[in-house]
Amino acid sequence: MGRARDQVTAVHESEERYRRLVENLPFSIHEIDPNGRPIPMNPAGSSVVTFIENADRDALYYLAAATDRDRERLRSCLAGAHSGRTTYLDFETPDHQILQASFVPLMDDDGNVHRVMAVAHNITARKQTEQFLELENSLLADFTRGMPLEKALTRLVEFIELQAEDVIASVLLLDAAGTHVQHVAAANLPEEYTAAIDGAAIGESTGSCGTAAYRGEPVFVADIDTDPLWDAYRGLAQPHGLRACWSTPIKTTTGRVLGTIALYRREPGMPKAYHRKLITAATNLASMFLTQYDNEQHLRESERLFRTIFEQAAVGVAQLDTVSGEILHVNQRYCDILGSIPEKLIGETWMALTHPGDLDEDLANMERLRRGEIREFSIEKRLRRNDGEFVWIDLTVSATWQAGDEPSTHIAIVSDITERKRTEEQLQFTKFSVDSCSTAIFWIRPDATFLHVNDAALKQLGYSRDEMLSMAVSDIDPAYPAEVWPEYWARMRRERKLTFETSIKLKDGSSLPVEITTSLFERGGEEFVFAFVTDITERRRVERQLRQSRQQLRQVLDTNPATIFVKDRTSRILLANRAMADFYQLPVDEVEGKTHLELHAAYGGRQQEVERWLSDDRRVIENGEVLEIEETGIDRQGKLRHFQTIKCPLELENGERAVLIVSHDITNRKEAEEALRRSEEQLRELNASLDRRVAEQTAELRDSNAELSAFAHTVSHDLRAPLRAMEGFAAALSEDYGDKLDQDGHDFIQHIIDSANRMDTLVNDLLSYSRLGRAELRVGRVDLQAIVDEALHQLAADIKTCQADIEIIGKLPIVMGHKATLVQVAANLISNGIKFVPAGVPPQLRIWSEQRPDGMIRLWIEDHGIGIDDAYQTRVFQVFERLHGIESYPGTGIGLAIVARVCERLGGRCGVESKVGQGSRFWVEFPAGGGRP
Ligand code: ADP
Repeated sequence: MGRARDQVTAVHESEERYRRLVENLPFSIHEIDPNGRPIPMNPAGSSVVTFIENADRDALYYLAAATDRDRERLRSCLAGAHSGRTTYLDFETPDHQILQASFVPLMDDDGNVHRVMAVAHNITARKQTEQFLELENSLLADFTRGMPLEKALTRLVEFIELQAEDVIASVLLLDAAGTHVQHVAAANLPEEYTAAIDGAAIGESTGSCGTAAYRGEPVFVADIDTDPLWDAYRGLAQPHGLRACWSTPIKTTTGRVLGTIALYRREPGMPKAYHRKLITAATNLASMFLTQYDNEQHLRESERLFRTIFEQAAVGVAQLDTVSGEILHVNQRYCDILGSIPEKLIGETWMALTHPGDLDEDLANMERLRRGEIREFSIEKRLRRNDGEFVWIDLTVSATWQAGDEPSTHIAIVSDITERKRTEEQLQFTKFSVDSCSTAIFWIRPDATFLHVNDAALKQLGYSRDEMLSMAVSDIDPAYPAEVWPEYWARMRRERKLTFETSIKLKDGSSLPVEITTSLFERGGEEFVFAFVTDITERRRVERQLRQSRQQLRQVLDTNPATIFVKDRTSRILLANRAMADFYQLPVDEVEGKTHLELHAAYGGRQQEVERWLSDDRRVIENGEVLEIEETGIDRQGKLRHFQTIKCPLELENGERAVLIVSHDITNRKEAEEALRRSEEQLRELNASLDRRVAEQTAELRDSNAELSAFAHTVSHDLRAPLRAMEGFAAALSEDYGDKLDQDGHDFIQHIIDSANRMDTLVNDLLSYSRLGRAELRVGRVDLQAIVDEALHQLAADIKTCQADIEIIGKLPIVMGHKATLVQVAANLISNGIKFVPAGVPPQLRIWSEQRPDGMIRLWIEDHGIGIDDAYQTRVFQVFERLHGIESYPGTGIGLAIVARVCERLGGRCGVESKVGQGSRFWVEFPAGGGRP
């Protein structure tokens, strides 16, 4: 019995345990009777399936479904359970609960279904969550596909309205400032209403949404008609029948309000549980979505930003594999610096691109980076460009892996510093030049004090640097006192650069003439004047000298009678002397600067003339040749003037070629030449006529000479026969009739004989003289010595008679002549010498020869006779010229005429030097005949 009772107790306990379990399960458990009526088996059974409680007790279980379709399914599930199968169904109740139900048949011992249990599990929340998740997923998917925010939120609104058919949903977003709402999505609110709301300010009592956004907490208004929060907006809501509005702020995780979600109803009332759940879920989703959107937006923006920074960076950026050194990614600038393209650079190692000289330093730094000793380093180095040249870059390398992790990649930022390197180099040169240049340099502040001076400035002025830096400009240049300084500075700012000459005061009190070039320069908003000071003492001196020498040159030019000027390519007169200016009757400075064409036109010169000159100029300028020409021009008086002109090329300072013209006015010379030419012409004509006349006269003379000669010959010849007859008959008379004649008779006969003899001598002399005029004389080398000897021999008798003393001095030379006639000459002269002496005085003769400077040989015959008066010394050489009577000195007066004619015929000369009472010295000259034969 005890055992049975134990068993009963055990069953009881077990039943109790199950009952408690069932009663506490979150399921509704009903027993369904064969008519389909539900009998609640646990408290949840009545609470979960509320309709059964609310409806009449006889309501059937299948009425728990909201739709006809679900009711039909429920009935068939119940029927299935009654026939012994366990069936399942998810369905929605009229109050929008979703139940997951299972219908289980309970069998009796015979295996018949005697009861059916319905176990319903309320899965509304889970379902809703699932649906929201689904929506969320789909929205996120849409969003990542780039669905605009407005469309996504509209879908949310539609979803809410699908979930709760009795509400109209709307989403408002706050503007960037967080002070005004913007309408975003409300598919079923009247457009007029949303338009009115759009842009409204948030605040206390600005309707449900404005207030909720303002407060940052939900504002559920049960009746818009009465709630004071709607006072300002009631007028907008009422015409559209909007009565309740439950608004909840959408916030970020940090609590910032992004917008609101509102549920409107056309009936007053507060949200029910499922409304609240819907609001919570929708708000969460919107919040998550908006936050995500916000982040995404940020991310996208920052991604765009970073991409832009990377791509558009002014510096080259590359991502490299830290271990292999390979380039993984480069931006455009990096490519530009290396003159390459990404395709070429990617996969290349930085080591291969680095200049061998810079590799070690870079490798050492990279090693430290890899070991984690440093996270970043910067160096300057050279990279090889695509064209093989090296470019100087500034490199900053930063590790991208987390500290402590294995090295992965690093970022290299490079900037082209070739220009900077060059500038640095130039700067070094400049600095060196400035410091060491011999020109004084000052940097001057706007207040006229010195910011800096170079060594040359100190040396030039004699101050120490400290002294200079404590001084102002007016201390060294009194021309710039403090009161004029601002004016100077203003001018400096206007013109930026000034050059002027002034005198500066040195420390020793002396002053130095200088040229100052100042330039204004700005740095970091401050202005300085940079002044170059050049000592121009030497320049001044040179200028003075130059001025002097220019004046001298000017003088030389101006006093020169020639026209001297320089023209450039355009015929502009660069320099002209006074003669040139005088030609145009202008001052020199009005000639200089004008073109030759202008000058010439102004004075009315002929165009043709100047064009000829200019074409010559062009030849000189273009070919560089020197022209020497004669030109003509008409002067202001209209007179034709002649010029002897030299045009030569002249290099100007600017490298241009000009033409230097020196022109002599040769008009006078030309005219004189012309006159000379004319008179020469006349003279030539005169000469010609003279020659003609001379020839005629000569011919006449020759004829008459010949006639005369023939006549003389005939006469002489014919005279001799009667003479000889006279002499013969006189002699016969004396011989035959001498004894019959007295002394007078004999004297007469003797007279006749003498006269005949004289006549004969005369005729002989005449004959030989006339022969000399005609005879052909063969000139040859003749020994004067032999000639004189021969003459002395011929005269030997006379010499002996008168006891003449004849001395020949020296050896006589050879001459060119004709022997016989020369003997005649010598004999004539010697016979005169011994003849013309005072009576009773024995003659003394000296004979010698003299070599004349003109190559002639002169033979002198000197006596101490009676001499010849000066008046007769030339006449004695003429025919029949005798100075004495026959009685005192016999002769014919032909001897010297023969001497003169012989000399003339042989190309010699003759003459006499004599003084009356002292003697005479006759001489004859013949061309020298050279050495002795
Ligand atoms: P002639 O001796 O026959 O008179 P010449 O012709 O030889 O003729 O000389 C001319 C004249 O010159 C002489 O009559 C004489 O008066 C003068 N005469 C010539 N030789 C001398 C001389 N040696 N001394 C002086 N008178 C001279």
